[in-house]
Amino acid sequence: MTTLPGTFGAYGGRFVAETLMFALDELEAGVREILRTDEFQSTLRELLRAYVGRPTALTRARPLATALDPDGVGLADVWLKREDLCHTGAHKINNALGQVLLAKRMGKARVIAETGAGQHGVATATACALLDVPCEVFMGAVDVERQAPNVARMKMLGARVVPVETGSRTLKDAMNEALRDWVTHVAHTAYCVGSAAGPHPYPSLVAELQRVIGDEARADMLRESGALPDAVVACVGGGSNAIGVMRAFLDDDVALYGVEAAGDGVGTARHAATLTRGRVGVLHGARSYVLCDDDGQIQEAHSISAGLDYPGVGPEHAHLRDTGRVTYLAATDREAVEAATLVARRMGILVALETAHAFAKVAEVGRRESARRGRPVSALVCLSGRGDKDLGTLGAWLEASGGAR
Ligand SMILES: *Cc1c(COP(=O)(O)O)cnc(C)c1O
Repeated sequence: MTTLPGTFGAYGGRFVAETLMFALDELEAGVREILRTDEFQSTLRELLRAYVGRPTALTRARPLATALDPDGVGLADVWLKREDLCHTGAHKINNALGQVLLAKRMGKARVIAETGAGQHGVATATACALLDVPCEVFMGAVDVERQAPNVARMKMLGARVVPVETGSRTLKDAMNEALRDWVTHVAHTAYCVGSAAGPHPYPSLVAELQRVIGDEARADMLRESGALPDAVVACVGGGSNAIGVMRAFLDDDVALYGVEAAGDGVGTARHAATLTRGRVGVLHGARSYVLCDDDGQIQEAHSISAGLDYPGVGPEHAHLRDTGRVTYLAATDREAVEAATLVARRMGILVALETAHAFAKVAEVGRRESARRGRPVSALVCLSGRGDKDLGTLGAWLEASGGAR
């Protein structure tokens, strides 16, 4: 086990077997010598424009501000960065397309990925179909069962879905298995990681590919409202949509809020609030906050939203938490469902359950920031994805709790 640069304060690094060091060094060189060239950047920009549908819209959500804060004391306005309008319905395609294009330019003949809910698997399978690269997606056997529609989507896109039967047979086991496969086939295989986590250079690479979200939103806020937002709010699973929107605002006088999944509540055993309730540890090749027991065993995470159901978090967020630059809150399953319902009814937008966690805390962000600034504030929410995939989960929840009003 070795540690190398690529750290955010005390977090990040590379805690991997020696055999993977070579592959990570090679990827780092690819980022430096290929990804950052003008040619690569203009090819990627054109794919993002003509295929993904970027730039995505910035939507003013006055009715939502009014519904969340009827007195107008805390929230002057809410703005939405519409990643749900991306091809495949979420921000994940920004990252997958960038990494698969890089893999192709690096001469890799095969791409592998891990997936939990299947969203990153679908994004990777989509990019591989477009760029004509064979794709294999590792997915916990339990998730293969739970997420049948996304398994069907991946297969239709030509990807091979590999069910993982080890451990709890969910996302963390799929990621372990993908790392194992990569060690074995490292010469001709690229590993497309789905969030701003994993060993260096993945957290930086994914953040670099997702920062288009914040760059666009910052420019559009200035153009359309004449000012930056007072606060930016995003949900945090591994942390890729959050770091993507936040990076553009780190040097501004803009309050940054990440919202984790509190599941049944952070005081219970069933949550995924890694930064709120976790401890420092190593998971998937990087030091960060993790959910673990007293013996350091990684614990199962729980959230109604499969995309936030991860016992780790990207190392940059761990650092931003410790420095206080970003405030991390946690929303329960119930708060997320209520927020998703409110956004649907007030704005006509079905948001992903992941995204709904961010919306669940917008009123609180308004209270905190208006108290600090002495006036009602504007909040920009990263609307990371659309909610069609969650209609089954939502229906079951609303039925169990007596139905929607
Ligand atoms: C996967 C997913 C997330 C969580 O992943 P991050 O890496 O934390 O962004 C959030 N929203 C949507 C819509 C997702 O699909």
